[in-house]
Amino acid sequence: MAENKNEENVAKRSLNFIEQAIENDLKEGKNNHKVQTRFPPEPNGYLHIGHAKAFCLDFGVARKYGGICNLRFDDTNPVKEDTEYVDSIKEDIQWLGYQWENIYYASDYFDQLWEFAVELIKRGKAYVDEQSSEEIASQKGTPTQPGTESPFRNRPVEESLELFEKMNSGEIEEGAMVLRAKIDMANPNMHFRDPVIYRVIKHPHHRTGDKWKAYPMYDFAHGQSDYFEGVTHSLCTLEFEVHRPLYDYFIDELQEVPQLASAADYRPRQIEFNRLNLTYTVMSKRKLLTLVKEGLVNGWDDPRMPTLCGFRRRGYSPESIRKFIDMIGYTKFEALNDISMLEAAVREDLNTRAIRVSAVLNPVKLIITNYPEGKVEEMECINNPEDLSAGTHTIEFSRELWIEKEDFMEDAPKKYFRLTPGKEVRLKNAYIITCTGCRKDENGEVTEVYAEYDPNTLSGMPEANRKVKGTLHWLSCAHCLPAEVRLYDRLFSVENPGAEQEADFRQLLNPDSLKVLTDCYVEKYTQQLKPTDYLQFQRIGYFHIDTDSTTEQLIFNRTVGLKDTWGKKANNPS
Ligand code: ATP
Ligand code: MG
Repeated sequence: MAENKNEENVAKRSLNFIEQAIENDLKEGKNNHKVQTRFPPEPNGYLHIGHAKAFCLDFGVARKYGGICNLRFDDTNPVKEDTEYVDSIKEDIQWLGYQWENIYYASDYFDQLWEFAVELIKRGKAYVDEQSSEEIASQKGTPTQPGTESPFRNRPVEESLELFEKMNSGEIEEGAMVLRAKIDMANPNMHFRDPVIYRVIKHPHHRTGDKWKAYPMYDFAHGQSDYFEGVTHSLCTLEFEVHRPLYDYFIDELQEVPQLASAADYRPRQIEFNRLNLTYTVMSKRKLLTLVKEGLVNGWDDPRMPTLCGFRRRGYSPESIRKFIDMIGYTKFEALNDISMLEAAVREDLNTRAIRVSAVLNPVKLIITNYPEGKVEEMECINNPEDLSAGTHTIEFSRELWIEKEDFMEDAPKKYFRLTPGKEVRLKNAYIITCTGCRKDENGEVTEVYAEYDPNTLSGMPEANRKVKGTLHWLSCAHCLPAEVRLYDRLFSVENPGAEQEADFRQLLNPDSLKVLTDCYVEKYTQQLKPTDYLQFQRIGYFHIDTDSTTEQLIFNRTVGLKDTWGKKANNPS
């Protein structure tokens, strides 16, 4: 139901510029009215929410326009890549609700790419350069000054062909030679200044093993892979805008090679959109890998990480992430997205699906002195007031209860509507009680709170509707379970850690991003729930069963609080 409403909203909002471009292409009959996209991650890390923005679009427009979207692993650098990442990427895409048509790998095209490179050499459009990468870089020039031509630029075709073979046979050391496209050392677009298209890497590849020693660079693999696959719309982030002329150049060249060219009326088109950047976190795979490797977080799926597996473990629903991505939209302008918008999206979504239970995180004992000892009542609780089809469950009530320490105050100000001597409050799903006092230890710490209940105040009884200002949650001491609760806060203490000095990166971590509470109690009912169920601890926030949780040791993660308290905290620190 909620799902349908969501899809409706998506359909109603105006087209983004990419959808407009696709609709124009379809109208003009380009590519035989076909739409085909791909999501092209490099399997060198886990997917983060920025990647989700990219693949929601790739899969989303394919679905919307009756086309297909493939998953393609851009596996051109064997040193950093691993099958662990391949598997996690598939899992995360499916978790978010998408399914690829086919799985491809850039390495599937290594033979064709090699053939294309050989063709370019034969046509005098590529050459083997024996200079070091530093020398090549020093000759690049600047956007306003032309570069310097390599002394190897005009070497005979035969020589380049022979050396290119050697680059791949293992005879050439890493860094000793590269293959460069021979384009234009004076072009104002730096990417045209004889870009490196092949380099030597002597590291086994996770799919092709030792077959190759020469590997294509990203710019030489990406567009061609799109072309070999039949991609019509190659959607990527704005930093690739400056690569687009080179993307088009290689497609033009490829179409000149009869054995590699496809139908003349087919051509992929690259369109760029803005990245997702979130406040208080970083979105660079390299930095996230550093956090994992140095043990600054507990793995890729640490609930503080912006990775999809991190959000999943923390208790974010896939729907809330999709909703957020839809909310921020796709534009041509880079922006920093406020994480509180994502939190608002998750709150709104979980409100419709979370099962309400009780938990006491900071317990103090409450004794109902006029309630018979040994008596136990089963109170009915509605699982989700936003969705009555979710049913009900029961919770035991007895003479000794746990309540939150913050819910009692001996000398309370006038506006304190919780427990204080002489005042009434309602216990959620149970009776109205009047506080009669408390006991304290030698340090003045409250150890027990006392109250009397009014037996006529249960739902359906004569006094049930008596007005009281406060309602408290509680647990029967003899009928609840101990639990550990992990409270998460923002991973970084500055708004835009990615923009700060490289060296400071670790120093910017929020030292209070994880607080572990070990003396908590939860309702027994939580033990019957599935690990995937979303929970609301009433009056506290949304919670999720952690993957470390066992029947002996229950562990819950706080997904998000009920209200946005961060703004308040930041404005008036107390
Ligand atoms: P790397 O630093 O390893 O290149 P990457 O984040 O670019 O990391 P890729 O695996 O190359 O990772 O990304 C796959 C796709 O996801 C690319 O098309 C890229 O444009 C897109 N993408 C990556 N980060 C973001 C982001 N923050 N917002 C939107 N799209 C992103
Ligand atoms: Mg990349």
